[in-house]
Amino acid sequence: RIEIDLKSKIMFHSIYDIKGTLGKGHFAEVMLVTPKNSIAGNESKLQQYAVKIIDKSNMTKNFNEQKLHDEIIVMYKISHPSLVRIYNLYNENDKIYLIMEYVKDGEFFDFISQKKKLSEYETRIVFKQLFDAIKYLHGHRIAHRDLKPENILMSSAAKLEVKISDFGLSKLLGPEHSLMKTLCGTRLYVAPEVIARTPNRSYGRAVDMWSLGVILYVCLCGNLPFADELGPPGLLDQIRIGKYKFHSPAWDNISDNAKDLIKGLLTVNTLPLPRSISSSSILTRGNEYIPKTKSS
Ligand code: ADP
Ligand code: MG
Repeated sequence: RIEIDLKSKIMFHSIYDIKGTLGKGHFAEVMLVTPKNSIAGNESKLQQYAVKIIDKSNMTKNFNEQKLHDEIIVMYKISHPSLVRIYNLYNENDKIYLIMEYVKDGEFFDFISQKKKLSEYETRIVFKQLFDAIKYLHGHRIAHRDLKPENILMSSAAKLEVKISDFGLSKLLGPEHSLMKTLCGTRLYVAPEVIARTPNRSYGRAVDMWSLGVILYVCLCGNLPFADELGPPGLLDQIRIGKYKFHSPAWDNISDNAKDLIKGLLTVNTLPLPRSISSSSILTRGNEYIPKTKSS
């Protein structure tokens, strides 16, 4: 059992030196830090971390210390080469400091924007890691819920090594956070069941599979499958009905296997799998399909 003392009086600033700013989001800022006791004068031995500083006023309304504790316990247990590691957390009066692995080569978003698109070969290298990481995360019963190229960081651009960040955070930041994201236009990757008109519809880990489908589409052709500019209808309705095309000539030389994978991921299917389908390996979306375990 992991012990986390959220009442600890140890202060973030007494342990780390801030070395620079890595970025500012809408709800947090991310700084590069080193522990105060690391050996000075030897840069290569210097430990570097990224710290995400979250203002508590941005947290969900029903946030409480217990909820934070539960979330953090989960994040601590997560250890996968393609998921940004969470090392520690300092819970202070008005701020939360989340100590993370520092990922040095920037956002995958900037990488694709610059390259315009990736080859199938390159895409395969990236997606092998992404699928592997999401499989692991889902195996721990965690949905990322905010997968997009901005939340995929690159540990090595040359080797196409990626790490997914911000998992579990959407839960801490709550609905106000996602509302803000709407205003910033990052609904481009959202699954149809999340924006379904029927209120109180439940949705599960499958939302991540949809987002991966959108990211896969973007990687292979350099354009978005759903966008207001492609309408009418508008973005959200395009997503709700799953309306997208493999345009010519961009998609002419892309394999049927790749297209089939995208089709499988971008399926609007909010119904549970029929009972007759028992294979848990079937690529499916929509409401969560939880295979029966031996004990049940
Ligand atoms: P947003 O709220 O827009 O998602 P974030 O708060 O997640 O922004 O991150 C802000 C910036 O910090 C981003 O540009 C991101 O690339 C960078 N960043 C976040 N986490 C890390 C990390 N672990 N290592 C290096 N850079 C990071
Ligand atoms: Mg982010």
